Amino acid sequence: MELWEQVKQRLAARLTWESYQNWVARTAQRSQDGQRLMVVVPNQVTRDWLEKELRDDVQYALQELNAGKVEVVYSTGGAAAAAAAPVEEAPAYGAGSAEPLFGGAVGSLNERYTFGSFVVGSCNQFAHAAARAVADSPARTYNPLFIYGGVGMGKTHLLHAIGHELLQRSPGLRIAYTSSERFMNQLITCIRTDRMPLFHQHYRSADVLLVDDVHILANRERTQEEFFHTFNELYDHQKQIVLSSDSAPKNTTGLVDRLRSRFEWGLMVDVQAPDLETKMAILDKKAEQEGIHLPEDVRVFIATKTRSNVRELEGALIKLLAYSSVTNEQVSLDMARQVLKHLHAGSEKKITIDSVVRLVAEKFSLQPGQLKQKTNAPNIAYPRQVAMYIVKELTNASLPEIGRYFSGKHHTTVLHSIQKIEQLRHRDADLNRLIHSTIDSFN
Ligand code: ADP
Ligand code: MG
Repeated sequence: MELWEQVKQRLAARLTWESYQNWVARTAQRSQDGQRLMVVVPNQVTRDWLEKELRDDVQYALQELNAGKVEVVYSTGGAAAAAAAPVEEAPAYGAGSAEPLFGGAVGSLNERYTFGSFVVGSCNQFAHAAARAVADSPARTYNPLFIYGGVGMGKTHLLHAIGHELLQRSPGLRIAYTSSERFMNQLITCIRTDRMPLFHQHYRSADVLLVDDVHILANRERTQEEFFHTFNELYDHQKQIVLSSDSAPKNTTGLVDRLRSRFEWGLMVDVQAPDLETKMAILDKKAEQEGIHLPEDVRVFIATKTRSNVRELEGALIKLLAYSSVTNEQVSLDMARQVLKHLHAGSEKKITIDSVVRLVAEKFSLQPGQLKQKTNAPNIAYPRQVAMYIVKELTNASLPEIGRYFSGKHHTTVLHSIQKIEQLRHRDADLNRLIHSTIDSFN
């Protein structure tokens, strides 16, 4: 099979359906001359898009195919392009299709994601307060509001909650809620079908714009450019903008600088992994919503056995409730143990100092042996302190034991390191996340 055909197959698996149909389906290999791959595309727009937006995806596909260093050259070529696999119009968003290209916010907001159902704990207190403030007086307090944090920490929930609250207070308000993925697909379709005015009209006439997961825009230059203009237009007219992302703007690679600096104009708040107390409160709330009383021991069991990810916590509860309803038995600790075996099994594993050190070393791109070296170079000392901290958290090793393991450190030095990391993790969200993800790997 021709190389480009293979690339297309990879792209089909990697891109959304619309994206593939719009930009890839109607391309074909013209020739391959050494490391130069000539590809015919139907028009200039497609060429731009492939070069700018999909460059990374194409490179990735070539890498996966072990194609070596290949330069892809796109050309628009009349007859050849027309002959290349004619494709039907994309039905999902096309003209006259059932699903409107731009739906109202009401339909796209999940009715369960409200402030009322959001549990506030120390991990998300600040983000919650900021979201509330924005819903109380949009564009007056923090603009833009940028909420960031790991997967399943409640970012989407907060964005929807802001939308609901605003709609309830002023039903006439025009709220545009979108995921970054959807924003991109709408843009693609509008460019291709010459409907950019519609796109502009939709986004630029919003009173409030809520955009989820902006980290997806990374390296999508054309989309970022469009987003930049939308942002400016709204901002200049004092419209509220709320964004979510998996990392702080400064840590999101692939964002163009002008967009990054815009994101940093307002308030940036992070949502952190829930602590045990918050996890229990979330379980209570969810159980209450289901009209079920959760026995105390079951609650503790689920909260301690799940990782620090609310989605997983919910998943465990739903599974348990489903089991209880199917068997017609009351929820009990025994049932929880049995149904949630998979959670239980992992944590029974014996965790050793070695295994912790291996993992921490990996997170810092070091060799495990380096953490045991007698050196105080910061690039080793800091990861070593983190490792000591996690060892203390996860194993029964005593301070002197830990000291001995790390090239004979005195136990007071170990204690000092552990205390330092404990304090630091409250201030440093990245560190906190790293600790959580390491601990999670053992669950
Ligand atoms: P993210 O967007 O950060 O990945 P989501 O907002 O999708 O996370 O949250 C995942 C699930 O966990 C959702 O069902 C959400 O309702 C729930 N959830 C997250 N945080 C909380 C919270 N503090 N209180 C109640 N439910 C929460
Ligand atoms: Mg989300």
